[in-house]
Amino acid sequence: MPFSAPAFAHELAPFAFAAVASLCLIGGALAVYYLGRLTDPQDRASRTSAAVIAAVTVAATIWCAHVVAILGVDGSALVGYDPRMTAAAAVVALVTAALAMTLYGANGGSAASAGVALGAGVAAVHYVGVAAMRGPGRFALENGELAIGVALSVGAAAGAFWIAAKIERRAGFALATALFAAGVTGFHVIAADALSFAANPRLAPSGLMVGQEALELVAALVFAAVVIGASVGPALRARLSSGRSAARERAFADLTREGIVICEDARIVDVNLAAARFVGLDPSVMRARALRDFLDAPDPDRILSASLAKPQEVAVKAMGGEASWVEISSRDVAIENRQRRVFTLRDLSEQKRNEHQIRHLAYHDPLTGLANRAAFGEALSSALKRGGEVALFCVDLDKFKEVNDVFGHSAGDDILRTAARRLTAAAPDCMAFRLGGDEFVMIGTGADAGDADKVALRVTERLNTDTVVAGRTIRCGASVGYAVYPHHGGDVDTLFSNADAALYRAKADGRGLARGFEPEMDLALRERRALQQDLTTAITRGEMFLHWMPQANAKTGEIVGFEALIRWKHPTRGVVPPVQFVPVAEETAAIVPIGEWVLRTACREGMKWAKPGKVAVNLSPVQFQHGDIVELVHSILIETGLPAARLELEITEGVLLDNLTGALNTLRRLKALGVQIAMDDFGTGYSSLSYLQAFPFDRIKTPRSSARSRPARRPRPSCAR
Ligand code: GH3
Ligand code: MG
Repeated sequence: MPFSAPAFAHELAPFAFAAVASLCLIGGALAVYYLGRLTDPQDRASRTSAAVIAAVTVAATIWCAHVVAILGVDGSALVGYDPRMTAAAAVVALVTAALAMTLYGANGGSAASAGVALGAGVAAVHYVGVAAMRGPGRFALENGELAIGVALSVGAAAGAFWIAAKIERRAGFALATALFAAGVTGFHVIAADALSFAANPRLAPSGLMVGQEALELVAALVFAAVVIGASVGPALRARLSSGRSAARERAFADLTREGIVICEDARIVDVNLAAARFVGLDPSVMRARALRDFLDAPDPDRILSASLAKPQEVAVKAMGGEASWVEISSRDVAIENRQRRVFTLRDLSEQKRNEHQIRHLAYHDPLTGLANRAAFGEALSSALKRGGEVALFCVDLDKFKEVNDVFGHSAGDDILRTAARRLTAAAPDCMAFRLGGDEFVMIGTGADAGDADKVALRVTERLNTDTVVAGRTIRCGASVGYAVYPHHGGDVDTLFSNADAALYRAKADGRGLARGFEPEMDLALRERRALQQDLTTAITRGEMFLHWMPQANAKTGEIVGFEALIRWKHPTRGVVPPVQFVPVAEETAAIVPIGEWVLRTACREGMKWAKPGKVAVNLSPVQFQHGDIVELVHSILIETGLPAARLELEITEGVLLDNLTGALNTLRRLKALGVQIAMDDFGTGYSSLSYLQAFPFDRIKTPRSSARSRPARRPRPSCAR
């Protein structure tokens, strides 16, 4: 059969040109997009995957462009393709594209070397691809002509790389894509022209071959797969990783102890566990609700409306529990392109608890739990400001010092606690306070003020009952004095002073009683103050004198000595009985210089007696508390020359109260001077017998009359009868 030369066309057919250009534009656009990612300051893994995707996309594009370009080889010359060489062309495409991307990425966007690699790659793929072509003859490329195509391809690729690296945004993207497409398409236009076919019947194709249509189908599938993969894959991955990072962020947010609430237009978009815990709800329940619904503030919108530069304290409503205090601050941030306000809530519960405890300590008495003196001042002022009748009750336990002394301080504490409980039980609507020691006050308003007498009576009756402490029965009653605003005082000070005057009267009238204020008590109070004033100058003005009471031997009737009794001749009042002025002197400690004067004068006068009898002098408990009584007695004995054995000091049980050990020490030191010690008014206290065991008194004096009253609130002095 005669050999007829197969048909062969030397130019790229228009449809092939269009197909190559389209392929290059699509593949180029994707590749340029990933090139941009290659130089982004992001993590290494993302850069590597961008490089891989760009390389695969470029490789697929140039290989498919080559396959499509060959479509233009029209005619019967092309019978099929050698599969190995075709695969080799694809490998060359991959290797050169990968090299180009590596060079580009490694050099931070070096266009020249990457351009050379890619441009040469396009040519190499074509060379290997042409070598795979099989037909009845030999396909060859005209090298000189192809060199122009290679130069074009290299230049365009380098230009595309350069633009992709330098020019940002859309213009650069489009230009780089167009340049890449132009380079590859242009190369194939030239390459088509450079392709020649020399027919040779002896070179008739044989062996395994891939048909042209099959190769076209493979190329189409490869290109479609790569394009879809490059377009969709990263987006999927980004979505997955953003989901993962959102979960990670949530886990982090849930770890913190601070509450975080993200709002958009005052609605809660997201909330962490800590914030949900403040409210006592599940985070999912809080979402989509308004944050203001959870704030316990008079004006929640003011707190939520502005971005809070300065944190504010606000209470958060807790479902089914106590509101918790938080410090709230906020700032505006853009999250996922939306303007949001992020609120941070810091738990203040512990701080508030501490503040509350400190306030409680400042305003409460730790022993009884009642409010204290500081709280009383504020409460009384505000009660008077509110208007209406206000009753003020002053309550003082009777002879409480003796309880301490006989039963011990801790039993005394128990009595104070019991008294506090009884007070509040007897007048539940009154506010009760402990001012200190065994002094309590109560403020009553409304019906309690109107019926102040009944309230006072109830309190005294309730307090004047037995208490069992550690198995022992103790009765420590109380006296109550009260005054009612505005009738008995128009201000805090007057009201308090008048209620105190009433208490003083209750004590003076026998204790265990309640007394309301009466104007004459005010007179008595003024009187007392005037006496106190005059007492300060009584000695220097020579108004005091001694009255001597003889002391006889009960058996023989013989006078053995005299007891010095003080008298005060007031310039206007005349002779003031000691029962009136001694308690007043003891309240202000004026008794100390008066007692010293009595001692000194008595010793001095005793020295003048013809018959050296006993000189008996009474000492006040207050003298034991102020200064060194032993030193005083010693110096007066030396000064006056009175023999110690002639001096007899008389004390009452009051001296031994409060500080028995200290008082006994003082008595022993006095006795060591050689003076005699007598116990006066023996048998009036709780523990007279125990005192006798504790100290060897030289003489015991019993009260002259069991009906003798004890008018003063403090222990009676002995120097004053
Ligand atoms: P009167 O009937 O005149 O009130 O006599 P009194 O013994 O109760 O005398 P006064 O009220 O002056 O005594 C209060 C005593 O309370 C003085 C002090 O020793 C005692 N005291 C003060 N604070 C406490 C305390 O916290 N616990 C105990 N156990 N005793 C206290
Ligand atoms: Mg008392």
